[in-house]
Parts: sequence; C-alpha cells; structure tokens
Amino acid sequence: MSRISYVNGQYVPHSVAGVHIEDRGYQFADGVYEVIAVREGQLVDLEPHFDRLDRSLAGLEIAAPMARAALRVVVRETVRRNRVVTGIVYMQVTRGVARRAHAFPKNTDPALVVTSRTVAPPNESAVRDGVKVISLPDIRWGRCDIKSIALLPNILARQQATAAGAYEAWLIDDAGDVTEGSASNAWIVDKKGHLVTRALGTALLGGVTRASLLDACREAGVQVVERAFSRAEALAAREAMVTSTTSYVLPVVALDGHAIGQGADKGKPGPVYARIRPLYEARVAAALAGVPVRPLQKTAKVA
Ligand code: PMP
Repeated sequence: MSRISYVNGQYVPHSVAGVHIEDRGYQFADGVYEVIAVREGQLVDLEPHFDRLDRSLAGLEIAAPMARAALRVVVRETVRRNRVVTGIVYMQVTRGVARRAHAFPKNTDPALVVTSRTVAPPNESAVRDGVKVISLPDIRWGRCDIKSIALLPNILARQQATAAGAYEAWLIDDAGDVTEGSASNAWIVDKKGHLVTRALGTALLGGVTRASLLDACREAGVQVVERAFSRAEALAAREAMVTSTTSYVLPVVALDGHAIGQGADKGKPGPVYARIRPLYEARVAAALAGVPVRPLQKTAKVA
C-alpha cells in the first residue's frame, strides 16, 4: 500500500509530496512540529499535543493553519488513509512560502504538512534490560520549550550517541545540570528514592509523555520532584529513565559507560521503573478504551 500525505489542503501520494523551495521551513527552519503516537489506530494524548502546538506557534508568532476541529479531522484522516495501527503522526507548520528575507513576510499563509506511518513500539530488550545514554554539552538556543523544526544541535547529539552505541544523548547545561535528551525527557531516582525530573522552563521541551507520566504517578501516590539534577547526581542515582512519544518510558542503565544503580540493581532497571511503567501504560490504555482520564496538568507558562 502506498503512503498518502497531507500537504497544504490536499492528500497526495507520499512519493511526490513536496513543498515549495521558498517555504520558510526549508530555508530558515521557520516552523514548528508535533509527533503523536498512534496505538490501536487511535491518537495518544492528541489534545495535549495540540495545546503544545498552539504554544509553539504563539511563541514564534505563526498563525494556526486551521481551527483545531479541522486539524483533528486532517490528522485522523491521514492516519486512516495510511492504515496505521501502531505508529506515529508527524505534523509540521511553517510560516509559509515567501521571497527569502529574514523578517516575517506579510500576508503569507502558514503551511501545514501531515504524515503518518507505522513505527514499531520500543523493542522488548530496551523495555526489559534498559538503554545506555551518553552526555554532551547542551549547545541549543534559549527557547527549547518551543518545539521548533530547527533541530541541528539535537541531530548532532543523537548522531554522536548513535555512533557511540548509545540510545540517547543527555544534554548538560552550563551549570552541569541535565536539561533533557536530544529527543526525550530525562528522569532519575535520587539517593533518597525520589523520582526526579527537571522543572519546566525555557531550557527544555515540556514532553507530553513527561506530563502524562507525572499525572499517572501522582494519581497512584508516587511522589515526583520537579527539579534540576546534575550529571554527577545522575551517575550516583539509584535509577534513570527517559520518556518520549516514541520511547514511552524506558529505563536508562548506563551513563557515559558507568552503570547506574546500586547493589543487585546496578546496570539493571530498578523497582521504581517497574512500578511506574505499568502506571503509564494503564493510563494510555484507559484513554484508548474511552475511560475518561484526568486532564494533564497545565504546563507552566514561560515567557
Ligand atoms: N525533548 C525533546 C527535545 C524532544 O524532541 C522530545 C520529543 N518530542 C521530548 C523532549 C519528549 O516529548 P514528548 O513526550 O512530547 O514526545
């Protein structure tokens, strides 16, 4: 079956889908995106992804390409036309097509592209045995809360991780603290046994999976502390984890070649992971089954 993609008002064969060479996304990375998981043919946390898209668009002063209700239809239709049961939807909004000049063009409509494809869930060995991460300096800009398509530092970091045989790169800010991964949020279980993830702000992306796991934990009475943690603290942590739309929740068992954990759990997924991953899975399963889940906590507004 050939893939179908949505490009500026039309569903077209993926093989010939394209945008103009003066699309500002192509020339300036002047745009934003979302990646949404598809499970059992349904969209996971669609509205929180739309909320974040709205915040990203507002942050760059790009108009919404269409009303949310229409966007919902386009996203669902793209999934349907590609018969995706387990996979992702990718949506990208750019400032549109205009003669190249840095300042915003006048009277230009934003451009919308939506694609969808089958993607395997995280592999079983990663879920069971964990993944390795490396750390690298965070060389990104000052508005990492905006899900911009300008991803060069993230790409370079992920490439270095891949070349090193690691799953992800954790990015370290000037204070020595972990901001997040190149495409995921970072978590540890500290020496006191508290589950810790960095508080929201302009230094990191407010992950939808992060928010969903936070909610699942709080509902189940698992205490979570939102605060920064350093690379040194991560190295000495009892456990570590990453979250993202495509990774869900995965245990991290090594950082820069050092095994994480203590005693019998050293280098292995720990008990907090074993407790919270099912909580997250249950939350997603309930939502897919139509059981109302408490809406995600409102993400902090940043300047
Ligand atoms: N941080 C960055 C930089 C990311 O690219 C992603 C993936 N979109 C995340 C965090 C995790 O966000 P989410 O859980 O919404 O996929």
